[in-house]
Amino acid sequence: MESLFASTKKELKQAIKIAKIQPSLANKLLTHDKIIKFSLQLNTKNGNKIFKGFRVEHSNILGPYKGGIRYHKNVSLDELKALSLLMSIKNAVIGVPFGGGKGGINIDPKELTKLELELLTREYTRKLIPSIGTYKDVPAPDVNTNSLIMSWIVDEYQKQTGKKELGVVTGKPIDLGGSQGRKEATGYGGVYALETILKQLGKKPSELTVAIQGFGNVGQFVAQKLQEEGFKVVALSDSKGGIYIPKGVPKIEDIIKCKEKKGYLAGCYCIGGVCDIKNKKKVGGKDISPDEVLLLPVDIIVPSALENVITTKNASKIKARIILEMANGPTTSLADKILNKKGVIIIPDILANSGGVAVSYYEWYQNIKKIKWSKTEVLAKLQKQMQDASMQVFKISQKYNVNLRLAAYIRALEKIQDTWLKNSK
Ligand code: NAD
Repeated sequence: MESLFASTKKELKQAIKIAKIQPSLANKLLTHDKIIKFSLQLNTKNGNKIFKGFRVEHSNILGPYKGGIRYHKNVSLDELKALSLLMSIKNAVIGVPFGGGKGGINIDPKELTKLELELLTREYTRKLIPSIGTYKDVPAPDVNTNSLIMSWIVDEYQKQTGKKELGVVTGKPIDLGGSQGRKEATGYGGVYALETILKQLGKKPSELTVAIQGFGNVGQFVAQKLQEEGFKVVALSDSKGGIYIPKGVPKIEDIIKCKEKKGYLAGCYCIGGVCDIKNKKKVGGKDISPDEVLLLPVDIIVPSALENVITTKNASKIKARIILEMANGPTTSLADKILNKKGVIIIPDILANSGGVAVSYYEWYQNIKKIKWSKTEVLAKLQKQMQDASMQVFKISQKYNVNLRLAAYIRALEKIQDTWLKNSK
């Protein structure tokens, strides 16, 4: 399989050509501004260990470098190069004044105690002190990192520099300057993008059936918002299994409670708030496997779990005509080609899941202005931002007769070029 970096660069080059990006800017965007690599020493209960730490800064033309920090044993420079480039594109697509960055440590955090994780995070922060800062590079949570880890970074940054800068990271706990609405942001943002594109296609939510893969933070908020907006959600799945109810799943809130109680989704057939496998027949339900959900006879599928779940193995079997990519990189580039040929409309991850980074920007903005917005205010701003970006991407796809993924890259490049030209005057 082609690496994420190779396929991302290919897409970028294609968009550079169509958007007629000036060669010097194109060259700049095809390389990275800075690659920071270091080793991290930690005394663990099993002896002294050394880990590799990274931060990759792709571009800061639009604003400070911005992107998550992941703790995963497979973290590699190649992957971080791709992800930081994608952050530059995503931030430009959604229209926030940030560039792209990404960092990480090659570690399986489950192997460490909480104290060891904190010590490692503090050591990682110390190594990054010269590079990060509110107006320089602003990390955030990513795979296996969370608001607690962000609060350790804020604290260590303050210890080392003497400055209390809440804007040095986003994704903080609300009582430490985090934003209201961050939990809902990615899921709701995806639904706002979907609704905007559907309106252009003349399709109504009430006529459309939806199947969702993944029922975690993103999948649950997507499911709940879609149902609230009148879509017929017929299938849900998590890593253990799923449910398919062709006439529509019951209230998502009940299913969320059922999953919380049992620890998994399978068998969550609810009637009037009572959820039990015994209700399966009464609601006309079927148990499905985690992957089957993508192949159901529905109008829309929403991969909200993992990368590379739509491949050459299943792409031609997909019956849905619309795919809302909430996970990062759910479709391989070869599968993308097959689906495009079939005329399937893919709302790409770089647009669909950008609601998260939009609210990260709101968090940063509230921190630097020392203000606090309510959840209602945050979600209203998010809705408008997602609608505007989705409209722009749709218009560009019509103008250049390209799919929405390529259109999103073109919109990002046009935005970056405008700012670059203004700054170089
Ligand atoms: P999460 O860990 O909260 O949830 C993931 C869900 O996927 C879980 O329900 C898990 O059981 C399920 N899952 C795992 N393997 C599966 C499989 N084979 N089939 C079906 N379900 C499976 O993660 P999340 O925060 O919801 O993120 C989901 C995706 O969205 C990831 O790709 C992530 O990178 C992307 N994303 C998340 C955010 C965010 O704000 N959380 C922002 C942008 C992108």
